[in-house]
Amino acid sequence: MTGTRQPVLSVRELNVDYGTGDGAVHALRDIDLTLHRGEVLGLAGESGSGKSTLAYAVTRLLAPPGVITGGDVLYHPREGAPLDILALTPAELRAFRWQELSIVFQGAMNSLNPVHTVRSQLTDVLKAHRPGMTRPERDTKAAELLALVGISADRLAAYPHQLSGGMRQRVMIAMALALDPEVVIMDEPTTALDVVMQRQILRQLVRLREELGFSVVFITHDISLLVEFSDRVAIMYGGRVVEEATAGALYRDARHPYSHGLLHSFPALHGPRRELSGIPGSPPHLTAMPSGCAFHPRCPKAFEPCAVRVPFLGHPEGEEERTVACWLHHDHDHDH
Ligand code: SF4
Repeated sequence: MTGTRQPVLSVRELNVDYGTGDGAVHALRDIDLTLHRGEVLGLAGESGSGKSTLAYAVTRLLAPPGVITGGDVLYHPREGAPLDILALTPAELRAFRWQELSIVFQGAMNSLNPVHTVRSQLTDVLKAHRPGMTRPERDTKAAELLALVGISADRLAAYPHQLSGGMRQRVMIAMALALDPEVVIMDEPTTALDVVMQRQILRQLVRLREELGFSVVFITHDISLLVEFSDRVAIMYGGRVVEEATAGALYRDARHPYSHGLLHSFPALHGPRRELSGIPGSPPHLTAMPSGCAFHPRCPKAFEPCAVRVPFLGHPEGEEERTVACWLHHDHDHDH
């Protein structure tokens, strides 16, 4: 684990529905997560697990019919009182995004404007948020930002179509870092790229994190990348966090049967080869969430309480650094 254990972003009991009234479905339930300063927190799960919904909810970018129905999202600045992100006015939110928290979304490299050069797209962010900067200062900063992500300044004059996919994604990362944010949220930032390029970019990001001191929430369905690049990993299933642990502990000994299955769905990077057993069946639909533990229809270890009682997320005995939501690791004879 790198950095101290000061929180920079904390999510408490966050609930999100899609739709309202009788037709509402629960997309996120009682999410509790803390991102510590300087940390890379990885979020994994199959599609529909709620990991992207969580990124949209935390950044207040959730589009209707998504509704936050409860909970808190607090940002902890280096000095002063925590800020309740869910209570920010639209103007406060505009100032907050990019400066304190920035986002690189899935397929972001395709969201560069095709008719503007890299320079103008980078300097536009600076112009909007740093009105005191002169034009030469903005140009210098744009070149510095490109250098940070390993692109030479002569590409400032390029248009997006003149760059490779990997370079475009690096430009998006440079843009996300333009205002020195404390938190960068990356939702499947490298999925469209080949494996070698993905690793190169993530390695660079981890190095930058060490240099610049920001924290990262890194979301991907590829748990092997998460285990390699994150300090802590949270696994989501059916809109809930089902296990959270340090990347090393999770890789060595996943406690939740779903985490175990996910880890065995990808080839191991180091050490002995693992059999790719995967997970039978498909993830549940939000409209037809199984009773009790949502994983029970697919779980090879399901037993009596699983279909009827929702397991709570708590520490397994003797493991203060890990939480897991599974009856195998909790006393299921008593109410909690
Ligand atoms: Fe499997 Fe039961 Fe644990 Fe759910 S609670 S993961 S069904 S053993």
